[in-house]
Amino acid sequence: MARRKKIYEGKGKILYEGPEPGTIVQYFKDDATAFNAQKKDVIDGKGVLNNRLSEFFMTGLNNIGVPTHFIRRLNMREQLVRSCEIIPLEIIVRNYAAGSLSTRLGIEEGTPLPRPIVEYCYKDDKLGDPLVTEEHIAAFGWASQQDMDDILSLSLRVNDFLSGVMMAVGIRLVDFKIECGRVYDGDFQRLVVADEISPDSCRLWDIETGQKLDKDVFRRDLGNLTDAYTEVARRLGVLPKNTMQMPKPTLIN
Ligand code: 5GP
Repeated sequence: MARRKKIYEGKGKILYEGPEPGTIVQYFKDDATAFNAQKKDVIDGKGVLNNRLSEFFMTGLNNIGVPTHFIRRLNMREQLVRSCEIIPLEIIVRNYAAGSLSTRLGIEEGTPLPRPIVEYCYKDDKLGDPLVTEEHIAAFGWASQQDMDDILSLSLRVNDFLSGVMMAVGIRLVDFKIECGRVYDGDFQRLVVADEISPDSCRLWDIETGQKLDKDVFRRDLGNLTDAYTEVARRLGVLPKNTMQMPKPTLIN
């Protein structure tokens, strides 16, 4: 059997060369990291849940005309995506104060923000993904003005979509992070939502109880991470039928 080519291994995912040119296989690991990988663990079933949840969100976005890199899910842990040139920015959209915004500005967690706030971090693990301004982005050429206009419009559309989907199942979308990539169609270049959208990259709080259903459960030792992600998947109706019986999922192919 031919061995496939690994392109990149990150903290939560591995990327392999895809079956056709311009495609990539994205494999979701069970590894959980926080605080720039200072805290690490392996959480059984996390990769399977994130693969399903990211498929759910990306498919929904594709269906409403927000372009993403997602093509199709291949099996329990893998999805086929379009290869794209990742813009080296983490785009964070916040609806309520939490996390680093609360720490930085002294605003109590859970305070509603007067409007969605979009922030940019430069993607560099060695530097701890520092917050940057559009001045830095333009000066260092990480993205063009056209890219930034498209990124802002994409992020706000993702925010509207995700907020609505989560609200419908009793979950508050506090904030989230996305990444964007450039794809080329002939002579034309456009931006797509890339990477993943999952409880690893969002803050999700139960509307009634305020219970955290996202990676803060791991970051802050608040309980069982798989239970939290399973609850999100269950409410959205995307729970793989046999997740509970298979604590250590195996690859289908
Ligand atoms: P904060 O800046 O408050 O730590 O994070 C804001 C939002 O972006 C949270 O939903 C958090 O999960 C997400 N986020 C920030 N940095 C990263 C990152 O490096 N990886 C992932 N998966 N999510 C991130």
